[in-house]
Amino acid sequence: MSRWAGPRTGIGWDSHRLVAGRPLILGGVTIPAELGLDGHSDADVLTHAVIDALLGAAGLGDIGQHFPDTDERWKGADSLQLLAAVVAMLAERGLRAVHVDTTIVMERPKVGPHREAIQAALAAGLGVDPGDVNVKATTGEGIGFVGRMEGAAALAVATVTGE
Ligand code: MG
Repeated sequence: MSRWAGPRTGIGWDSHRLVAGRPLILGGVTIPAELGLDGHSDADVLTHAVIDALLGAAGLGDIGQHFPDTDERWKGADSLQLLAAVVAMLAERGLRAVHVDTTIVMERPKVGPHREAIQAALAAGLGVDPGDVNVKATTGEGIGFVGRMEGAAALAVATVTGE
């Protein structure tokens, strides 16, 4: 592993299928919606992108290596708990997150009314101030898998330091 203490940057991307009968959970916040995200865990696409960004910054691979979707332990898992495990993994290596920027790519519902709650939940999980977690949202403009409401995606960039 690199000895460079930082700042180190990582990117994360995730997508999940939108289906009826599942909750829509983004950054640990359940959002009222006609469709929810399908997956082995709670399918929190935003938290998964943040986790991959953190793992990337720390040089620790990706979410699938640490929490494989073939493992019954992670069935229905609360992704904020997976985030806590990753934050602990970083801490063991003397690393901590200092800033995360994110983009949710989803046709609807609107994320705006839930933005502050999502920021607060992710910040608590990361051990940073809510002002150090940015949550942006955009739509698919009616095209592609996002525009057709077949799924939603999220991107994240995390900055980690060992200082
Ligand atoms: Mg995922």
